[in-house]
Amino acid sequence: AKEKEHMNLAFIGHVDHGKTTLVGHLLLQAGAIAEQQLADGEDKFRFVMDRLSEERERGVTIDLAHAKFETDKYEFTIVDCPGHRDFVKNMITGASQADAAVLVVAVDDGVMPQTKEHVFLSRTLGINQLIVAINKMDLVNYDEEKFNALKDEVSALIKTVGYKPSEVEFIPLSAFEGDNITSKSENTPWYKGKTLVEALDDLEAPEKPVDLPLRIPIQDVYSITGVGTVPVGRVETGVLKKGENVIFEPAGVSGEVKSIEMHHEMIDQAEPGDNIGFNVRGVGKNDIRRGDVAGHLDNPPKVAKEFTAQIVVLQHPGVITVGYTPVFHCHTAQVACTFLELVQKMNPATGQVEEENPDFLKTGNAAVVKVKPTKPLVIEKIKDIPHMGRFAIRDMGQTVAAGMCIDLVPAK
Ligand code: GDP
Repeated sequence: AKEKEHMNLAFIGHVDHGKTTLVGHLLLQAGAIAEQQLADGEDKFRFVMDRLSEERERGVTIDLAHAKFETDKYEFTIVDCPGHRDFVKNMITGASQADAAVLVVAVDDGVMPQTKEHVFLSRTLGINQLIVAINKMDLVNYDEEKFNALKDEVSALIKTVGYKPSEVEFIPLSAFEGDNITSKSENTPWYKGKTLVEALDDLEAPEKPVDLPLRIPIQDVYSITGVGTVPVGRVETGVLKKGENVIFEPAGVSGEVKSIEMHHEMIDQAEPGDNIGFNVRGVGKNDIRRGDVAGHLDNPPKVAKEFTAQIVVLQHPGVITVGYTPVFHCHTAQVACTFLELVQKMNPATGQVEEENPDFLKTGNAAVVKVKPTKPLVIEKIKDIPHMGRFAIRDMGQTVAAGMCIDLVPAK
């Protein structure tokens, strides 16, 4: 059988609106599939690749995160729901960038603060496809009027951040009773649209960013007998071919690609999404480290002296002021960065400017800020290479903010 295309799916929405119940139902009805078995047999790259996937999975705390289910066309992996720890960090650092989101809104409760926040956040995080599940229809006797009223309200909301309501499916369902999830419900004869599974099947597969510049954030660097130094990472964008010249930044070392290995096999070229180990002539184990990024010598990764970012403050016990220096997690890098300037404060639900040069930022604020990495950091403008422009800001053991780079001053 042909391998199904893969999609990462996020479930977003206000707490208690039924995300977990809905995911549970999908897994039951659409048939969860077993974790892929690792190929048997020992070889030297196996250890490396296993380590890599362990790192990916680390920090997953809820049962449903990373669960998989299939529809006719796709294999879906569920990425953490927001509200669950580390969702934003996972999304931003790329471990589980969602290709689409299901926004769950309970019909008895309607649009709530987290509904708005998550809609804005999904847009900021680059989730371009949305399905709206109007849940708990059983609680309102499957009333068409109530469905339509909430559909209008949610349409207006998603429109403010740039989604096109006409391209979004609104589905009346009950996660509890199973209406309109895998089959059309007799309880909603007035509804002529798709079931949730049909809507999922009609999503567009993400395009592989093969035409963007090559970027491979390095996850780890190994020394392998008979091969030499093997940096390991996932190709985020572009295509890497054997024999090409690559440079690692900020390390600044370069050389020719001698070999590329994936799933314990030698390959001639690697594409976005591929987890690879590769060997570069003349680059030693101590020349490069986790957080460096490989790119082609003629289009090297950008090292920022300073950058301008759009951020959302998710949870901060105090206030953020100029001089604050938390750790930024960007692709595989972790670098402390100092806030140099608070440029603008915005409404987190609409993005509208509320204040120029605010004195401080607190939980719930969105803002444009200028920051300076305390040591060299590779980051790209979101409009140039979206996959390399997002970051999470961590402090005191939690993700305090999330954002993206909108402009930068190169280091050289
Ligand atoms: P989450 O916080 O969004 O993950 O919400 P949960 O899935 O935990 O659901 C919150 C509560 O709503 C639970 O008590 C569920 O049993 C209930 N619930 C979820 N979906 C439905 C539904 O379609 N109908 C009804 N009546 N209750 C639901």
